[in-house]
Amino acid sequence: MGVEAGTELLTVNGRELKDFLDWEFLTAEDELVIEAKQPDGETVIYEIERPEGEALGVELEPPRVRVCANRCEFCFIEGLPQGLRKNLYVRDDDYRLSFAYGNFATLSNMKERDIQRILEYRLSPLYVSVHATPWEARKKLLNNPKVPDILAQLRRLTEGGIQFHGQMVIVPGLNDAEVMEESLRDLWSFGDACLSVALVPVGVTQFSHLYNGRPMDAENASRILDAVHRWEARALAERGDRWVYGSDELYLLSNHPLPDAAHYGDFSQIENGVGAVASLRRRVRDGLDKLPRLDGRRIGVVTGTSMAPLMPELLDAISARTGATFVLLPMENSLFGPTTTTAGLLVGADIRRALADRHDLDIALIPAETINDAGLFLDDVSFIMLRETLPMPVYPSYDFVDVLSLEGSPEHAGRSAA
Ligand code: SF4
Repeated sequence: MGVEAGTELLTVNGRELKDFLDWEFLTAEDELVIEAKQPDGETVIYEIERPEGEALGVELEPPRVRVCANRCEFCFIEGLPQGLRKNLYVRDDDYRLSFAYGNFATLSNMKERDIQRILEYRLSPLYVSVHATPWEARKKLLNNPKVPDILAQLRRLTEGGIQFHGQMVIVPGLNDAEVMEESLRDLWSFGDACLSVALVPVGVTQFSHLYNGRPMDAENASRILDAVHRWEARALAERGDRWVYGSDELYLLSNHPLPDAAHYGDFSQIENGVGAVASLRRRVRDGLDKLPRLDGRRIGVVTGTSMAPLMPELLDAISARTGATFVLLPMENSLFGPTTTTAGLLVGADIRRALADRHDLDIALIPAETINDAGLFLDDVSFIMLRETLPMPVYPSYDFVDVLSLEGSPEHAGRSAA
């Protein structure tokens, strides 16, 4: 209909558009009257009758993200070093992104009209950072005396038919004992409306200047896992699913074997590091048959220090199938410090350090999660530029199989993946 880039969409069927949610929901009708302001300032009305299900073909500007009103001691963003690109410091706490993308939100910046909207549009399920249900404990954890009562908020939402996944970041001394138990009891009382709960150990970087708590150690992690096991036994018996999950980090910290993929059902909290290792193991196992022979190849694999001990079992299986030799290169994180052990947070400088002098490798695989959509590592190094300087072809990979299986040729696969 000739809608130009830069057009401001004002109303749909007489209702004002505040953001992408309004657009998504109000344009679900097939008969639409859309009022818009063109880039030249002229207001136009589009009357549209569209065939059922056909997309309108309008691309919206990225939403202005709602920022967080809290100041959690354990906030990862507060633990970022200075000097990174600006958008990494945005502390989003946005129920709209919680619904649309599964980002966790604390709901602490929600107004009455937001609750009305969630109920009207049935934004379900939401992903909620609960951390603790006792109000005083939650105020302390979120470092915000004005935090609303999460139980009252969740009651209101769930009575209106909204379901949610919850997460609790566990901080030793703050919510690892009775507060954790009470919170789990409260969340359990929501019945089917609370779809799952993930317990995640606090993780701090060397720049986490707000953090006053104790670090998470093996003993603490084991105690939290005990609670996971107790509650999952109850949930399996009473509702037929596990309901509560420990993040992979909790198992690694407590030296407890990680469960297999069947444990995690539909992997509803995988973005939260819950079941990521099991999913990787499964993808490797299921992909082995797709792999070509790669006899004589030497393949470097860069990873973080927490994943390194889990890699040999996977790489040995791939090696047995392909004949390739794998060289594991576990790297400490030079930007966040040695306490940040996740492979996906390695930065360009770490990849360079790992590979710059490895003239013995035919190719190298790096964690694909280290690179954003613009091809940049967290330290703003460009993957394409870095790759040019390294002595072997380098390919971002999620699970090895993705790169090694394509067309039976690692070179070809790598070009596609890159
Ligand atoms: S809720 Fe806490 S952890 Fe999340 S962004 Fe805000 S301050 Fe950071």
